[in-house]
Formats: sequence, structure tokens, C-alpha cells
Amino acid sequence: MANDDSAMPSGLAAVFARLIAATGPIPIAHYMAEANARYYASRDPLGAAGDFVTAPEISQMFGELIGLWLADIWQRAGGPDGVCYVELGPGRGTLARDALRAASRAGFVPEVHFVETSPALTALQQAAHPEAIWHHDLSGLPNDRPLLIVANEFLDALPVRQLVRTAGGWRERMVGLDPEGRFTPVAGSRPMDAVAPEVFAKAGEGAIIETSPASAAVVQEVAGRLARQGGAALFIDYGYADPQLGSTLQAVRAHRKVDVFAEPGEADLTAHVDFATLAAVAEQAGARWLGTSEQGAWLLALGIAARAASLTRTAPHAAEAIEAAAKRLTAPAEMGTLFKVMGLAAPGWPDGAGLARANSGGAG
Ligand code: SAH
Repeated sequence: MANDDSAMPSGLAAVFARLIAATGPIPIAHYMAEANARYYASRDPLGAAGDFVTAPEISQMFGELIGLWLADIWQRAGGPDGVCYVELGPGRGTLARDALRAASRAGFVPEVHFVETSPALTALQQAAHPEAIWHHDLSGLPNDRPLLIVANEFLDALPVRQLVRTAGGWRERMVGLDPEGRFTPVAGSRPMDAVAPEVFAKAGEGAIIETSPASAAVVQEVAGRLARQGGAALFIDYGYADPQLGSTLQAVRAHRKVDVFAEPGEADLTAHVDFATLAAVAEQAGARWLGTSEQGAWLLALGIAARAASLTRTAPHAAEAIEAAAKRLTAPAEMGTLFKVMGLAAPGWPDGAGLARANSGGAG
């Protein structure tokens, strides 16, 4: 560690460097949680001028089709009174705006609840949805009414825990400092063989197991609430349908992948979502798993082509942009197959449009 102050990093990097120098390496999950809390607290990262672009910011069609999905399942559940729209990590509030507009045309006008920790994004959401009610986590949501819950690119921002296979067995993957004072991944000193899943027992040296206890906790709470209160949920994110080995942790800044360890708090840290594990968690907590579909197939099943055609009729000058947006959301080489849509519902609620339980996921 350099004692020369001018060589010291600033902000969160300096805090981490002091902490590691004083007490040793910190778990990847700790690093990711603190880095993202710092990252989201102070900025709006969305859009062309920011760090990344999400589906609702690409086209109004995305939120509209989600709103119609919610109105449809609500109607087929008998149109119960007092249902709340709940969005986890609503960003600029764009998805909610488009979804609620489309849902209201279908006769569904719910109370609006947002779960958000970022002061910067809360301010933008307040401007777009003055009527909404904000929460820092799920614990304060109403517990006496059915909930229709939406989370787009929320779970990927929650911290992952990693285990790495060493010559001495499984260890927690941690963040330490190299001789130049840069952050670098290191294996923890305590044996972790007891928590490595059986399926990966034979993985070779260097193999990494990634899990997201924070995502599992969110899905467990959502599923428990659906089981007790009624309702349905959509989790949309990039991720994989079957369990896999390897680190998917990445950092994105100004639309480019950057070094995860370079500037904590200045880039968006994300990991792919393990949908099969989350479906099993949801079923164990008492919810129905409605299926996990690829985003492209799901949007096409919900009628994105017809919606694009109708938008083009009202705005012929925007025909090219509308077509390009629909392609970006659905094409396999773009967001169509990497992004998945997982549906959950209360035990007594109907199936979800466009979702099928054909493939992986669930307790199986
Ligand atoms: N859903 C939006 C924004 C995605 S970015 C969209 O699709 O455009 C991730 C969102 O989750 C941001 O609103 C961020 O502030 C919020 N977020 C990240 N970590 C969170 C946490 N632990 N608790 C609550 N919100 C969180």
C-alpha cells in the first residue's frame, strides 16, 4: 500500500482500499453492493447520454405490452378490487407511465407503489408519478391486497456471491489489493466446501460458482406475498435458464464494458440472473411459476408487431424508428434471447399471456 496521498484513489475506492488494508480482502458481494449503492444514489444512468439503455427507454411498446399483460391477468382473475401496481427499481418511471396508460385503457387503474433506493432516480419518478407511494424495500408494501409486481433490469443490479475452486477446495471469491494498490480478485482463506452445490462438486481448479442471495430473498418475499395476498409478478432481465459455472459479473460505463475492479461506484455492476434457481425459490415460497420465456418470443406473442403497425399508422414519419425499436427488443442478436421474462402468480390466479412452462425452471 502506498503511503503517498497523491497515489490514493478517491471516493469509494479509497474507502475500500483503507478497509482492505486494515482488515483484509472483502467478499465480492460486499464490493458489488456498496459500489452499486454509490453508483445509483447520485445519478440517472439511463439513456444515450448515460451508461446504458433499458427496454422501456427504447420504446413505449415495451411498457404498454406489460400494462396489457397485467390488465389481462387481473381481468381473468375476476378483476379484484384494491390491487396495487408495484415496480421494483423503476428507473425514470418510463415503464410505469407506459404500462399504467395501457392498463387504464383496459379498465385497470391500480394504486402505484415504487421500491427504490436512489434519491436521484426517486426525484425523476416523483416528477413522472406524483401520486405514487415510495418504499426503500419490499417490507413496507401493503400486505392486505393483491399485488401486480414488475421488475425490469432490477435483479441484475443486486449483489452476487462467488465461490472459487482452489487447490485447497472451494473458497469465497474476495476483492484484495495487488502490490500496486489496485483491486484484484483473490480466494478467501476459509474453506467453503459446505456451501458449494453438489452438481458442481467436480468442477476444476479456477471454476467459479455465482449465486445471488439478495435476488433469491427478493423473489422469496414476492412469492410469499403473492401466495398470501394474491396477484402476479414479472421479472425481466438478462440471464440464463439453466444453472451454469463462471462469473458473469460485469461493469458498464458509457455503453462500454469496463474493468469491474477499476472504479467502484463509477460504473454499473451487474450479473446475469439465474432464472431456474429463482423459479424454484418462488415455488418453494408458495407461488405459481407461470414460465420463463425469451423476451423476443414473449413480446411477439403479446402482439408487438400489431402495436408497431398501429403506432406507425398514427406517426408514419417515425416508421423506421418504430421498426428499429421493435427489432432491438425482439431480435435474437439484440435483446430477444438474452433477456428473459419470468412470470409468477398466486396459486388461485390464471396463467400469464405468452408464458409457458415448457423449458427449465421451477422445482422441476
Ligand atoms: N427498471 C428501470 C431501471 C433499471 S436500473 C428500467 O428498466 O429502465 C436499476 C434500478 O433499480 C434503478 O432504478 C436503481 O436505482 C434501482 N435499484 C438498484 N438497486 C436497488 C436496491 N437494492 N433496492 C431498490 N432499488 C434498487
